[in-house]
Amino acid sequence: MKYVYSFGAGRADGTGDLKDLLGGKGAGLAEMTRIKLPVPAGFTITTEACDYYLKHGRKYPKELRAQVEKSVRQLEKLTRKKLGDAKDPLLVSVRSGSARSMPGMMETILNLGLNDKSVQGLARTTQNDRFAYDAYRRFVQMYSSVVIGLPKEDLEARLRALKNYLKVTDDTQVTAQGWRQLVGEYKEYYKQKTGKLFPEDPEGQLWGAIGAVFESWMGDKAVTYRRVEKITGLLGTAVNVVQMVFGNTGDNSGTGVCFTRDPSTGEKTFFGDFLINAQGEDVVAGIRTPLHLKEMAKLMPKVYKQLEGVREKLEKHYRDMQDMEFTVENGKLYMLQTRTGKRSPSAAFQMAVDMKNEGLIKLEEALERIKGEDVERLFYPVLDPTLPRNEFASRRITSGINAVPGAAVGKVVFTAGEAEEWAARGERVILVRRETSPEDVGGMFVAQGILTATGGKTSHAAVVARGWGKCCIVGAEKLEIDAEHKRMSSNGRVVREGEWITLDGGDGSVYTGEIALVRPVPPKAFARLLKWADQVRKIGVRANADTPHDAKVALEMGAEGIGLCRTEHMFFKDFEHPEKSIERQQAIQEMILADNVEARRKALDKLLPFQRRDFIGLFEVMDGLPVVIRLIDPPLHEFLPKDPAKQEALAKDLGITREVILRRMEQLKEANPMLGLRGCRLAIVYPEILEMQVRAIIEAAIDCQKRGIKVIPEIMHPLTMDKKEMKILEAATRRVADDLISKAKVKLHYFVGTMIELPRAALLADEIAEVAEFFSFGTNDLTQTTMGLSRDDAGRFLPEYVDERKAAIFKADPFQSIDIPGVGMLVEWGIKRGRSTRPKLEVGICGEHGGEAESVKFCHRVGMDYVSATPFCVPVARLAAAQAVIEERKTGKRKK
Ligand code: PEP
Ligand code: MG
Repeated sequence: MKYVYSFGAGRADGTGDLKDLLGGKGAGLAEMTRIKLPVPAGFTITTEACDYYLKHGRKYPKELRAQVEKSVRQLEKLTRKKLGDAKDPLLVSVRSGSARSMPGMMETILNLGLNDKSVQGLARTTQNDRFAYDAYRRFVQMYSSVVIGLPKEDLEARLRALKNYLKVTDDTQVTAQGWRQLVGEYKEYYKQKTGKLFPEDPEGQLWGAIGAVFESWMGDKAVTYRRVEKITGLLGTAVNVVQMVFGNTGDNSGTGVCFTRDPSTGEKTFFGDFLINAQGEDVVAGIRTPLHLKEMAKLMPKVYKQLEGVREKLEKHYRDMQDMEFTVENGKLYMLQTRTGKRSPSAAFQMAVDMKNEGLIKLEEALERIKGEDVERLFYPVLDPTLPRNEFASRRITSGINAVPGAAVGKVVFTAGEAEEWAARGERVILVRRETSPEDVGGMFVAQGILTATGGKTSHAAVVARGWGKCCIVGAEKLEIDAEHKRMSSNGRVVREGEWITLDGGDGSVYTGEIALVRPVPPKAFARLLKWADQVRKIGVRANADTPHDAKVALEMGAEGIGLCRTEHMFFKDFEHPEKSIERQQAIQEMILADNVEARRKALDKLLPFQRRDFIGLFEVMDGLPVVIRLIDPPLHEFLPKDPAKQEALAKDLGITREVILRRMEQLKEANPMLGLRGCRLAIVYPEILEMQVRAIIEAAIDCQKRGIKVIPEIMHPLTMDKKEMKILEAATRRVADDLISKAKVKLHYFVGTMIELPRAALLADEIAEVAEFFSFGTNDLTQTTMGLSRDDAGRFLPEYVDERKAAIFKADPFQSIDIPGVGMLVEWGIKRGRSTRPKLEVGICGEHGGEAESVKFCHRVGMDYVSATPFCVPVARLAAAQAVIEERKTGKRKK
């Protein structure tokens, strides 16, 4: 088996396509060598070798030793230098390189090959003692910390002590003698800590470095980065061993990093940083302030021109923006790396559109280049990226699951009521709760952001906040909330009510204090690209929206209808007339407390005008587009106040005692409410609720239609599981609706359908479809019920299931990205069976998955008519839907 690929002098064993095997860096070096760019010679050890090493108890494959040795000899021949040579030594860098860029997450060792003898050779050939010993101490320092794991701080302390002793402040002022002394001290320290001498033998050094790079694949940083960036399925890191070139040999040398286009705006300008007389790490470490690339044009005009040529050649060759590293050694340019550059979300759009217009890429490629996260990140406020992250690292108090991206700053409050009060007097607040319930929706609405100690990505807080595009962190398990004393603590730090905190929904971090936020402005290219996506996609895209305001946002985001209006969200808050919220709440609470049908009907009559107005608002906004309205779904106890003071107030308003409320709550209490009296079961037990809601919908529709508004109501029953159950619901729905329509003497077409949220419903979909005119897969509940995972509690342990160093059972959280093998199988079955009895059955999805790119692609593949996503995820879905078509064209078949 071939584990080592050499390159140099215009020839390379590998090519740019072998990224999985050689890593991005190795593939880039091979490709650049092939297209005759100036690249130092070297070789790449494959990711397969890393995979072997990690899977076989840290042992190398047996062929590796001989192959590396052969490549070292070949490199020595090409460079006409020898590793460890006392006269003119070959020095190499040993760098990691993964198939997907993981900047700074893995290890690098420079100047390898130096020892007490070869350093003298280096001093002689460069005629620069100081340079040689500086290189040597850098190597010993890096090797000690990276390969052996000695604390960086201890090594740096020795460097600081030396500078104090020499009475200098800058590294550049340290003499050759000083560096020599430091090398001695480092080695002494090394011996003390390891009980061994620092390895002088270059081959031994090399194997130590190779092992350390392999190990760094499983280091904390790297593992976390892969999880956050959803990088899966890679074998490991490659190792690149490359001849060292030095940018720090004098003023005719330098080093830099550059991009073929501006990575933050996407503009087509040459962009980068450059340092004269420096090594690459100096640019990254920020020890010296780099110069703009333009300066290089003045200081080294010839090399700069050559670099511009490289820029053009590479961008044309790779047909994408490149991020390159280069070094100039004594006036000679060397390219050390090229890779597809990371870019801001807005630059991603700009570049995709520009490159398509320039003819560099095709429309399909432009669409494929944008990731779901890029789209989402365009709309949410974020921590000001110009602020240095390490400065507020010490202010991080805890972290949780980043349910909704973006960021928020506000003063901590612990109840929804307080959130509303504080917000009413103009304060910005963050609502912190153990978990949220519909009761909290008013407070959640006015809060800048929401933080909960429990819950996962489809918990109440997450679902509601996502709909508003509001930053939300859930499942912050380490957070102890003491709502009674109005404080919370984590890691021994206490935050009290009224103190500022900042939430970063990007990675789930919570910081004390106020951190500046910026709101990105979507670039013009955004609209252009999404129009292209619309031309390509086949599946429809609707939005989950409960209010006219959300519906307007949904339209702006390109929704083609409403796929889910959760009517219970309207029970607690009057979004158009906030002063009426109390009246609504009382009406619903009165309805729940009623102990007979008459009393319940009386309360429902009070709710009717509110609901009718809500639906009129929705129909007006969605004029001509379908609106799927789901009848009440959550268990009733969620609507009663938990707070004793609120219970008291409600009792007073209703002229009953608090005991009555408590008794009713006791009656409604369920051991497992998610599987209890909820969903359409409520309408089976209390048909009057269904009647009121259907009446509100149909009266609203008639009212709108009379005013020339085109209405397409789709009445949806949640959580059904049986044809007979569906038949009862359908009959009740039609009885109310048809009666109203005939009395109003109008022609109004409406649809009656169901959500598919239970495995039984999916299994018996053919029977249910005999009654239901449409299906909408509620994959939040369907995931919960199929997998037996509570959507509100799984956040606590699911990370273990997803973490690649732990159980690694799933690649992604199944509440976020649909579990294709399991839940997906039921979805597919449900669609097939449903259409077997009703060929024109309309099928959609309205669980959170409808706004997640991979799940949207799945929905396309199984033949759904539309997906429905929260308004801010509508563009994600539009794009993913187009990408699904492109993927299908490529493979020529439908994959699952
Ligand atoms: C679902 O279960 O997927 C759904 C959309 O309903 P809810 O999240 O309101 O339970
Ligand atoms: Mg549901």
